[in-house]
Amino acid sequence: MTSVFEKLVKILSLERDQGYRDRAVIGGLERFLPLWHQEAREGTKDPQHIQRVEEIVALLQGYGAKEREERERIINEILGKLEAEQTPQAPREPSPPRARGVPGLGLDSPVIRLTGISTAYARRLTRLGVTTIRDLLTLVPRRYDDFSALKTINKLAYGEEVTIVGTVWDTKARQTRGGGTVITTVLSDATGTIQATWFNQPYLVKQLRPGCQIVISGKVDMYLGRLTFQSPSWEPLEKELIHTARLVPVYPLTKGLSARWLRRLMKRTVDHWAPRVPEHLPDHVREREGLLDLPTALCQIHFPDNWEMVREARQRLSFDEFLLIQLGVLRQRRNWQQQVGRPMTLDERLLRTFLSALPFTLTDGQRRAQKEIMGDLKRSRPMSRLLQGDVGSGKTVVAMAAMLMAVANGCQAVLMAPTEILAEQHDKNVSGLLQNLAPALSEFAAPTIRLLIGSLSRSEKEQIHEEIATGEADIVVGTHALIQEGVRFKDLGLAIIDEQHRFGVSQRAALRQKGYFPHILVMSATPIPRTLALTVYGDLDISVIDELPPGRREIKTKWLSPRERERAYSFVRSHIEKGRQAFIICPLIEESEKIETRAAVAEYERLQKEIFPDLRLGLLHGRMKAGEKEEIMGQFYRGELDILVSTPVVEVGIDVPNATVMLIEGADRFGLAQLHQFRGRVGRGEHQSYCLLLADSPGSDAEERLKIIESTQDGFQLAEEDLKLRGPGEFFGTRQSGLPDLKVARLSDVAILERARAEALEIFRRDPALSAPEHALLVQKVDEFWQGEGDLS
Ligand code: ADP
Ligand code: MG
Repeated sequence: MTSVFEKLVKILSLERDQGYRDRAVIGGLERFLPLWHQEAREGTKDPQHIQRVEEIVALLQGYGAKEREERERIINEILGKLEAEQTPQAPREPSPPRARGVPGLGLDSPVIRLTGISTAYARRLTRLGVTTIRDLLTLVPRRYDDFSALKTINKLAYGEEVTIVGTVWDTKARQTRGGGTVITTVLSDATGTIQATWFNQPYLVKQLRPGCQIVISGKVDMYLGRLTFQSPSWEPLEKELIHTARLVPVYPLTKGLSARWLRRLMKRTVDHWAPRVPEHLPDHVREREGLLDLPTALCQIHFPDNWEMVREARQRLSFDEFLLIQLGVLRQRRNWQQQVGRPMTLDERLLRTFLSALPFTLTDGQRRAQKEIMGDLKRSRPMSRLLQGDVGSGKTVVAMAAMLMAVANGCQAVLMAPTEILAEQHDKNVSGLLQNLAPALSEFAAPTIRLLIGSLSRSEKEQIHEEIATGEADIVVGTHALIQEGVRFKDLGLAIIDEQHRFGVSQRAALRQKGYFPHILVMSATPIPRTLALTVYGDLDISVIDELPPGRREIKTKWLSPRERERAYSFVRSHIEKGRQAFIICPLIEESEKIETRAAVAEYERLQKEIFPDLRLGLLHGRMKAGEKEEIMGQFYRGELDILVSTPVVEVGIDVPNATVMLIEGADRFGLAQLHQFRGRVGRGEHQSYCLLLADSPGSDAEERLKIIESTQDGFQLAEEDLKLRGPGEFFGTRQSGLPDLKVARLSDVAILERARAEALEIFRRDPALSAPEHALLVQKVDEFWQGEGDLS
């Protein structure tokens, strides 16, 4: 039966239940009739359908004026006809497929093979990341509507979040003076009535027809002393949901897919396919961890019996994801460690000479990291280590010592940085350090250093390629240009990647492949909480420099109110008058980079014209070409600009010791880790530096963040706080980290993460090659899970 007939059946049944008093619809059935007639005739050319509609309308003519018996006869005649009607009329939405055993259909079949899914629907599902039946099973609900906690209208209380079911009595549209539309609907259930309003959704008049039953979820509001709903979310009622599942899944939707359609598709798919999903966890693991079996977990995540089952299903599915990550990284690590690389001999004297030639002594943290790295270099299995240290903690000297050691062992070393400016900076530092060293190293030929970046001329590049190939270049510093085809090392022994989070997995792998199992050191200034590091970099050993060189002054950080903006500007100006430089970071605008860029351009022009007309300002944004960015950063670096205005997408990864003020607009929109990164761009020289935070209307979470960043300088502590406050999205787009997408697990579920890691270690301990039959399915899952993510490390 189509929905227009269903609706009519609902109203006529109500009329019958109320004793044929013509009260089922406000104003009487005859008022409702023309609307229904129009709707029923719309969108159909089926003559049978039209005839049925006309018959019904004719029968109901003059209903209000008829006697009770006559009314009873009419209603029952219509209801009888409609209920007898079995053949479905052309539905507006194709009904979801029945997942019956179609031959050759499997979990990895594309959804389009399910009967009833057209190309158009398949395309819409793709937008939700669903292409196969398996994907559909793992499209987890965003939330659940709890119909077991359904309220009746007379029990509603101001301010609570509720779900109610009601019948629409009346819907009206009204124009506002500003030209908008207000839709007001009166809803009722057996206990009372309540009004709901929506703004600027004129089409609702058509959808919220009198007589239809809907589910409303939202906060109970108050207007002129009466309870109301303001723009609540709503859906047509699906009766069976209330009876079959008290917790109703709410899925992410996309244009052209209705909640109802998707839910029905899910129900059928889950009923048929979930029991057919093979269990990949060995029984002993599942029992030890007290986890649901996989088919049950899948059924329960979609159509849970109760909240406890939601929790258990989530646990099981999160555990799986973490376990697959851990097994993947541990396997990677194991493979890597079985390789034979190039054991180096340590030249202690050279090392001591190098360290004593430095204008400072290493911090304890640096010394520890350096020892760990030297220990790795001596081994025959290739090093695979992450060196973590806050901005300014002095990672470069540690890297330098390792490169020197590689050169002393007769092989080449490479240092790759994400931008030309950074590469140039490294080149300058490395050359400087070696010059200091030269007098002390009489018998040691000074290493040859080359800088390879994209902006070199072709002939310059060819020259350097040649020197790399012949081994004349001992140390090569550069950018992505290093991983181009033409670059062939004579004998690469050590590859170092700076700011590794800026490189993709494949780029790291490409650099590694430039040598025969070279030692690898990746460096990162993003402080990562330990549990996260174990997950994402579980295949790496980790060294941490957990302190800054002595004498570093803290960066004074102040959160200002919007009223103090002028003061902030004069503060910036006063520093520039003293010969310093400043950064101004524009707010993060999440909608699009284009809008963000436009906003930044406008802000830059405003600052240049109205606030700092006499100063030299530069603008940096993500839509500039690489060359343009380098140009602007270069100008700032050389002191040719006073203020660098920048969007947040551009990580200002440069060391400009003369910059002492960092002004961050819209600071409430950033996470702590990111604010800390920005802040680290100042305070790199001898001058006291400042970070000013402006936030227009921070919510309470943001206020908390701003207070923390004002009072804390420790990047690791900030990272932990950030993880608590905002979850791990702050640290990684998962893509960027080389981590597969997590569908259910949240990286903040530390307890589950640690259990999964422990189990993964245990599985490897028992079965180092993962060759036991009981692990076969699991290994297959690991492969699938990591598919397309390339090589780790
Ligand atoms: P990052 O870890 O952010 O890459 P760098 O290696 O660029 O930090 O070091 C930042 C600055 O600190 C450099 O100018 C470097 O010479 C200096 N530095 C490094 N180690 C020490 C130390 N132990 N004592 C004093 N200054 C140091
Ligand atoms: Mg650095």
